[in-house]
Amino acid sequence: MKFCPKCRKLKNEIDFHKNKARTDGYHLWCKKCRKEETTKYRATHAEQVKIAKHNYYENNKQTIISKSDEWVKNNKPKSRIIKNRWKANNPESEVNYRHKRRSKCKQTDITGAWLKELKENTEICILCGNQMIDSKKYHPLKKSLDHILLLSKGGTHTKNNVRYVCILCNAKRNGKHKS
Ligand SMILES: [Zn+2]
Ligand SMILES: [Zn+2]
Repeated sequence: MKFCPKCRKLKNEIDFHKNKARTDGYHLWCKKCRKEETTKYRATHAEQVKIAKHNYYENNKQTIISKSDEWVKNNKPKSRIIKNRWKANNPESEVNYRHKRRSKCKQTDITGAWLKELKENTEICILCGNQMIDSKKYHPLKKSLDHILLLSKGGTHTKNNVRYVCILCNAKRNGKHKS
């Protein structure tokens, strides 16, 4: 048993996180108290937490990437499920990611959130003048991301080179549709 000075309760060792830096091998506060403190801290220091996370990622990029690659390699079915779930929940981010990979220049100022906003704010297809619809299933007037100067012609995947047009016009431009 171990005493938590925060909630002033005697608890089992299993209720404490391990901490090698401390003499007894456990954190001072119990799991529940630490969790409460973290939640409180995150709520009041949102900006600092964001910066800290970003810095941590930047400083440990290589390790994080190779570790996650290894995990994906060892957990193929599970990683596929996670990937598909993410795709379904973040359709614009997925589109953004796909275009970023396809475009010659890997740098882009576009984010999934920005694309989502652009999509929501585009009602009319500038090429055919039809009202577009936002649908998950295929529809000729479904909104689809278009590159003004095509990626295949050296266009970049950047804010000044993208717009939403209907899927039919998009296909025509890309030569995927004969008419
Ligand atoms: Zn406690
Ligand atoms: Zn159109």
